[in-house]
Amino acid sequence: MLSGLTQAIGNTPLIRINCLSQETGCEILGKAEFMNPGGSVKDRAALWMIQDAEQSGQLQPGGTVVEGTAGNTGIGLAHVCNNRGYKTVIYMPDNQSEEKVNLLRTLGAEVRVVPTVPYKNDANFQKQAGRYAQTLSNAVWANQFDNTANREAHYATTGPEIWTQTNGKLDAFTCAVGTGGTLAGVARYLKEQTSNTRIVLTDPVGSALYNWVKTGTADMTPGPSITEGIGNSRITANLQGTPIDDAVQVQDQDMVNMVYRVLRQEGWFFGSSTGINLCGAVQVAHQLGPGHTIATILCDDGSKYMSRLFNAEFLAQKGLHTNASDTPI
Ligand code: PMP
Repeated sequence: MLSGLTQAIGNTPLIRINCLSQETGCEILGKAEFMNPGGSVKDRAALWMIQDAEQSGQLQPGGTVVEGTAGNTGIGLAHVCNNRGYKTVIYMPDNQSEEKVNLLRTLGAEVRVVPTVPYKNDANFQKQAGRYAQTLSNAVWANQFDNTANREAHYATTGPEIWTQTNGKLDAFTCAVGTGGTLAGVARYLKEQTSNTRIVLTDPVGSALYNWVKTGTADMTPGPSITEGIGNSRITANLQGTPIDDAVQVQDQDMVNMVYRVLRQEGWFFGSSTGINLCGAVQVAHQLGPGHTIATILCDDGSKYMSRLFNAEFLAQKGLHTNASDTPI
């Protein structure tokens, strides 16, 4: 028995993706992070950042957690804040879907929608979140990109869980990076167990991280990508110092094919970053050859992507398609 909501975060199953395992001759395994209470991998980071603020004394009973986020981190924070009696204030740029605003408000967060401006502008939503937290007495800015309590969550939980669930027989781990918390925490833990586990960063187009791993310079690749929550133009504090062996890049059309393929062939309903991760895992499997075990992250499910990834009209506008001939059933 679990004693409450925060106990239900983590300890997710590791699931064999059968069609990809058969195709590659490898074991392709996905960590089912969509099964967390808030529905994504970000619940772990949300819990760790809040626990860290409590332990440092920054956050006292009845306090406020502020974050600039358009997605899963806000959802995770709202769940944990409700559970622990904190207020959640989310700053969000005004180019985000109404569904996301409504969801966060339904969860009890105060949502402040602000004009969409680049990071270098002082009115950027993340900077506004940081400034607002400073004006309150009992409040913390979660600051997921550069607050390393984020990667600590994955070092303390996701990494050890994957190691145990594979009985230490793991040839490679790969996932995409948004803040970098997941990759950084898992990679650190796995490399401490054995340097033989290959760590590969999977990057969507329109991000600088593929080039950063390959050449050492964070040059953007041509984009944009329709994926959400992944890719970055800078090396966050969470990502710095991560032991990474290689990077692979995934095109959006391959991601779309993957998401529809696992839906039609196996019944999995995944979001876009999971599609990217599965494509990355297949690329790594082809590089290593049959007989290897590769783990990745099933970040969230498809329900938040109905108006984009699961909307044929939207895909067509972006020059993408769900041609069934690409995705044999
Ligand atoms: N997938 C989704 C759906 C996300 O919301 C995020 C977080 N931005 C990620 C992947 C990337 O995780 P991380 O921030 O730990 O790099």
